[in-house]
Order: sequence, then structure tokens, then C-alpha cells
Amino acid sequence: ARAEGPTRYRFHTDAMAQAIRERVDLEALLRHGIERNQFALQYQPRVDLASGTVIGVEALVRWRHPVLGLVPPARFIPLAEETGLIDDLDMWVLDEACARAATWRAQGLPPLRVSVNLSARQFQQAGLAQRVQAALERSSLPPACLEIEITESTVMRDTGEATSVLRSLKALGVALSIDDFGTGYSSLSYLKRFPIDVLKIDRSFVSDVTADPNDAAIACAIIALAHTLNLEAVAEGVETAEQAAFLRENGCDEIQGYYFSPPVWPEQIERMFAEKTAN
Ligand code: C2E
Ligand code: CA
Ligand code: CA
Ligand code: CA
Repeated sequence: ARAEGPTRYRFHTDAMAQAIRERVDLEALLRHGIERNQFALQYQPRVDLASGTVIGVEALVRWRHPVLGLVPPARFIPLAEETGLIDDLDMWVLDEACARAATWRAQGLPPLRVSVNLSARQFQQAGLAQRVQAALERSSLPPACLEIEITESTVMRDTGEATSVLRSLKALGVALSIDDFGTGYSSLSYLKRFPIDVLKIDRSFVSDVTADPNDAAIACAIIALAHTLNLEAVAEGVETAEQAAFLRENGCDEIQGYYFSPPVWPEQIERMFAEKTAN
């Protein structure tokens, strides 16, 4: 066993060295990407189930790397959070999404609420409300046209602190939604006190909603909870007509998912409305 020691040790350090090298490489690439403005936003429509119309879009960030191609957020958001690069990235996303929504308003598109995801780290940062306000002012976007999505696990981490951050955001006049709802451990008494507008039912309950009675029960319970608290229920990850029908029948307010549209580039959102009015 002793003879194997050094070999195993070397194997270990090689693997570690490689892991560290890859991480450093990705971090350097990410830093460089932020400096070079290699990021772009896609938008996924949110559809009102009663009227069947698009009433909002969620901004989702994409990294367009010249060599790596289009890098999905799952590949770089966690690293961006760990390294603090998310601060710059999320602020860029906020500015870009507000500017886009303002442009759409100016172009005469039907009113759309644009929602933006905030990382846990951003949510905990002092001066968040001032930064959101500055982005609204730069774009002249009416605050009611902006929605901020914060995950359930982020707001439930420190409910006391979360309440005051949510209040400071709400005071600006923006809409607030709790993302990935149902996956964390919500304190219902806090949920009632949070100045929020929307619960987004996590995709994990939606994907099997027509096949798994447990998921159906959870989805219905979240819809009922949302309505009891005077909030809107939005289902994410809706992929089929059956899922959409189930959700409509059970009172869900809005859906988002591949069934209606995947996230698309802004030009495609504009085309979507151009076609609508042409018909
Ligand atoms: P999320 O906020 O839960 O966003 C929804 C994700 O589900 C998106 O993945 C979207 O493309 C995907 N999706 C939408 N409809 C469907 C569907 O019908 N089926 C399936 N299977 N998936 C669907 P995406 O764009 O890869 O983003 C992943 C996550 O990365 C987001 O989850 C969000 O947590 C994070 N993220 C994206 N953009 C930003 C950002 O600008 N800032 C921060 N902090 N996080 C972001
Ligand atoms: Ca989201
Ligand atoms: Ca979500
Ligand atoms: Ca999710």
C-alpha cells in the first residue's frame, strides 16, 4: 500500500491541478467576456391563459463566445456567482432588458412586462434598489414594466433581511416574483408578509403534471396558495397542450415554456407581434 502512495498522490494532484486550471481558464474567459461584451439576452414569452396573449417576457442571458459558441447560463452563472463577476453581469442584464423593453414601447408593441433574474448574491448586496432605480431612469422604462425574479431559496435564506430588500424594491413600483417555487422550504407566514406579486411554479412539478398525481396536487396547491395570498400563479416549463389545458382548467394565470415558445432573440419577439397585427 505504501508503494502506491506516491502514485496515487501524483494522480490526485494532477486531477486537482487540471480542475484548478480549467476553473481559472473559465474565470479568465468569463472576465474577458464581460469586458468584451460577449453577452446577449434571449426573451421567453409569458402567456396569459385566459386571453391567450403574450403579456410579458423573461430575459435569459447567453454567452456568445467566439470559440466556445453559445454557452448556456448553467455553465457560467454558478462560477460568476462564486467569483463575484455576477455583479457586473446582472447589472448589465438589467440595463439591457430595461433598454429593450423601453424600445419596444417606443416602437408601439403591446405593453410587455420584462422580467429579469437576480442572483442570491445580488439580492444580498447593499444599494440594490438604487441600482435598479438607476437602470429604470437610464432607460425611462416605467417601473411597472419591470419584474424582478428571485428564487424561493434566496428569499427564504434570511427572511428578515429579505423582507426589507423586497420592500425597498417594491417601493420603486416594480413587480416581484418568487422563482422556482415549490423547490425550497417556504415559511408561509413570511410569504404572506413579502410584498410580492407572482409565484412561479417550478418546472419540476409542471413536466409531469398530467401524469403524476402528486405533481398535479402540488401544482394545484401552489395555484391555490398564490390566489389566497392575492398573487398570480405562473407555470414555467410548459411543453405540451395537455399541460397547458390542465393548468388553465385549474386556474393557473400564466404559462411559460417551449409549448408556446422557447427563449428567442429580440428580433423574433418583434416579428411575433408584427405577424399578429398583420393577420
Ligand atoms: P430560470 O430562471 O428558472 O429560467 C428558466 C429556464 O428554463 C431557462 O433556462 C429556459 O430556457 C428554460 N425553459 C423554458 N421553457 C422550458 C421548457 O418548456 N422546457 C424546458 N426543459 N426548459 C425550459 P436557461 O435560459 O438555460 O437558464 C437557466 C437558469 O440560469 C435560469 O433558470 C436562471 O436561474 C439562470 N439565469 C438565466 N439568465 C440569468 C441572468 O441574467 N441572471 C441570473 N442571475 N441568472 C440567470
Ligand atoms: Ca427565472
Ligand atoms: Ca424558474
Ligand atoms: Ca429553474
